[in-house]
Amino acid sequence: MAVSDGADVSELAAGVRACDRAAVGRAITLLESQLPGDAAPAQELLAALLDDSGGAHRVGITGVPGVGKSTLIEALGTRLTARGHRVAVLAVDPTSARHGGSILGDKTRMAALANDPAAFVRPSPTVGALGGVTRVTRETILVLEAAGFDVVLVETVGVGQSETAVADMVDFFVVLMLPGAGDDLQGIKKGILEIADLIAVNKADGDDAKRADAAANDYQLALGMTHPASPTWTPPVITCSALTGKGLEALWNHMRTHRRLMTDSGELAERRADQRVRWMHAMLTERMRARLAASVAGLLTDLEAQVRSDRLTPAAAADRLMTAFEGPTDV
Ligand code: GDP
Repeated sequence: MAVSDGADVSELAAGVRACDRAAVGRAITLLESQLPGDAAPAQELLAALLDDSGGAHRVGITGVPGVGKSTLIEALGTRLTARGHRVAVLAVDPTSARHGGSILGDKTRMAALANDPAAFVRPSPTVGALGGVTRVTRETILVLEAAGFDVVLVETVGVGQSETAVADMVDFFVVLMLPGAGDDLQGIKKGILEIADLIAVNKADGDDAKRADAAANDYQLALGMTHPASPTWTPPVITCSALTGKGLEALWNHMRTHRRLMTDSGELAERRADQRVRWMHAMLTERMRARLAASVAGLLTDLEAQVRSDRLTPAAAADRLMTAFEGPTDV
């Protein structure tokens, strides 16, 4: 099947498998494409690559802007490529579509990794809302795995649902924190502790080293009050400095230990299987909603107004919409 730029899907798949960077770039562009004619070839490409995907260590990294995500990814990534790993970096930032480019997409960040032949850095896709960005990022991970990248780092901004979305597409989720425990613990979101596989207090250097230790102790206490997601893994709290490299070796060792334990216990396979099923449901919901909204748009507006003014109950409105929706598709 031909894609909109004239290429052939099987040729493109072969290029990806050979890790031809131009082919990898074009494959990702195909996944990002919103041209209706590209949807089928994109899925055909993924199907062709499926057997070669799944091999990477998928790691998510979150934290507030300025915590040191890109500095840490650059420092960790270059260490890993120096040891023979092939490292891909992706970003999830649903605000980049609205703002027409984002901090995460800034090419000057991670300059060393971006120029490293064993690395591949891709900014956040600009395909609308979080659902679109999430889909493209998940599919891009599969393409990068087929191209032979064995470590995929997915960076996200520490806000809202993008954190949960990224945690749900990776094997290991790292939450970066700043020193300054007293203030931080006040505002710490309980939800983030529940999805963290490791907490790293960054900038543990210079005058902040002591404060970082204190913060790590506090996070350790806070973590102790949450229910661990895995019977095999207790999320560790470490301090590190992306600037000096302190703690990065420990961070990587934790990731490797986690992978070994989770693989041996079968939890890694289970986690990925759960993620795939949740992804299917999310896409199904999104498609159903889009189809429903398109087919009963007028009635939807009308019933929404009636519900708003309390002339109709929400349940009755939902029933009428479903009846209107199902009617024509049944014939
Ligand atoms: P991001 O927004 O989370 O990606 O943060 P950046 O990686 O862009 O870092 C924000 C600022 O913090 C930059 O000026 C970095 O040089 C600095 N920074 C990052 N990591 C460290 C660290 O470990 N120690 C210190 N002292 N500064 C750091």
